Amino acid sequence: MYFLAGGKSITICQGGVLRFFVIIEKRAGCGGRPDGSEAILLGAITSRCPACGTLNRAPADRMGKTGRCGMCRAEISFPVRPVTPVELTDANFDREVRAAGYPALVEFWSPSCGHCIGMAPVLDELARELAGRVKVAKLDVTANPKTASVFGVTGTPTFVLFRGGREAARFVGAMPRAELTRRLAGAGLL
Ligand SMILES: [Zn+2]
Repeated sequence: MYFLAGGKSITICQGGVLRFFVIIEKRAGCGGRPDGSEAILLGAITSRCPACGTLNRAPADRMGKTGRCGMCRAEISFPVRPVTPVELTDANFDREVRAAGYPALVEFWSPSCGHCIGMAPVLDELARELAGRVKVAKLDVTANPKTASVFGVTGTPTFVLFRGGREAARFVGAMPRAELTRRLAGAGLL
């Protein structure tokens, strides 16, 4: 079960659209998930200090703001984290995934792959539910063969989980949402 975290909410400009979010928290021992309202898990955002490397944590309502490193007091920022899958290209892959500062789940997909089209709603849901914790992103292997080749992707969909900018896990083939979630949990992400 999720609960409103003290009635907190934030408004974020994302891709030129103002979006309103309710901040929720998950209580231990309960399953369930948000029931429609777009929501961000409380306490989920982190920012690595550029000066000393300390991983700073902050409540989700700090997103889009700056703060001070708890260790060395250097200025740090908490970038806005997307709630819809990020479209990756050969050009933005390094910036969006390797330098994201938090884990990323990348689906290598192809517009001509029916299984990939079938996974799209699952990716949309995960992007919303994991916002702030995991960046959910998609790379069209047809349009971006260079990156697909770097990672040796030979079939779609292929899901690669990145942590600290490096591949941490890989799942090949379409699967139900529950199975993908189970594998992410198995990789220590959820
Ligand atoms: Zn620091």
